[in-house]
Amino acid sequence: MPTGLFSHSLCRLHEMGEGHPECPERLDAIADRLLLTGLTDHLQQRQAPEADPADLLLAHDALLVARVRELSVQLASGQDGAESGYRVLDPDTRVNAHSWAAALRATGAVVAATDAVINGELNTAFCAVRPPGHHATRSQAMGFCLFNHVAVAARHALDRRGLECVLIVDFDVHHGNGTEDIVAGDDRILMVSFFQHPLYPYSGTEPQASNLLNLPVPPYTRGPEIRSLIETHWMPRIDAFRPQLILISAGFDAHRLDGLGQLGLVEADYAWITRRLKDMAQRHAQGRIVSSLEGGYHLDALARCVETHVRVLAEL
Ligand SMILES: [Zn+2]
Repeated sequence: MPTGLFSHSLCRLHEMGEGHPECPERLDAIADRLLLTGLTDHLQQRQAPEADPADLLLAHDALLVARVRELSVQLASGQDGAESGYRVLDPDTRVNAHSWAAALRATGAVVAATDAVINGELNTAFCAVRPPGHHATRSQAMGFCLFNHVAVAARHALDRRGLECVLIVDFDVHHGNGTEDIVAGDDRILMVSFFQHPLYPYSGTEPQASNLLNLPVPPYTRGPEIRSLIETHWMPRIDAFRPQLILISAGFDAHRLDGLGQLGLVEADYAWITRRLKDMAQRHAQGRIVSSLEGGYHLDALARCVETHVRVLAEL
């Protein structure tokens, strides 16, 4: 069965100012690499639909949704008076006139990909979208993230599509505090992650609920140690949980070249992690995996890591 590649051109139009690492060029680097290596030909490319704003309420407070929409729409209509063209949501997160549209496509991609794998149209899918999502909490946009696409998709699969248990894997170098905030205590969801600590957002070391398995690791931890931790801690938990769907918050900023973190992963480590998750998906979830781009700021490394990840997802 095919692997889907979901994206949308509107995801490029959201940007947060000159020099911001979470930039539109990230998606260009990924698209170029997938094209250059011929992978694009083997993937089922799909335009991300717009999420219904009601989808966002599966994981977010109405106030947050309304605020992002209002700021973005005001900027688009010129009513806002913000000469910079941006409004600040937190010290490193801004919206521009296109942010609302971009975020709706990003969430829409992950929800549509989830539907496609549940419907059996696709086996696995990668969503090349931005803004990313895993720092967005129920009520707060932060850390480059506006809405939490993976958390929305998990709730969509459970509340609307009748699945009973969904695994969320977060391998971004930063702790997925937003996802944790939304899913903590929801025993239909198991969230497993590793992340550098200490590092933004400086959370995740204290257990918040029994459905969260966090592995904080110190700076300069390299691939072999991460693999060993995953094998020892994640795999038995996932096996016991028997997820019907695997959602991945796929950040590639734990790569050794990435400037936002200090971990030492390389392409082969991402291939290994993806392979192990494929094994779990095949054992428990009819192979169903939906992966969504989170971080990854060294453009060349990001592009190579996504290529590697998608190759394993699609068995190419
Ligand atoms: Zn990150």
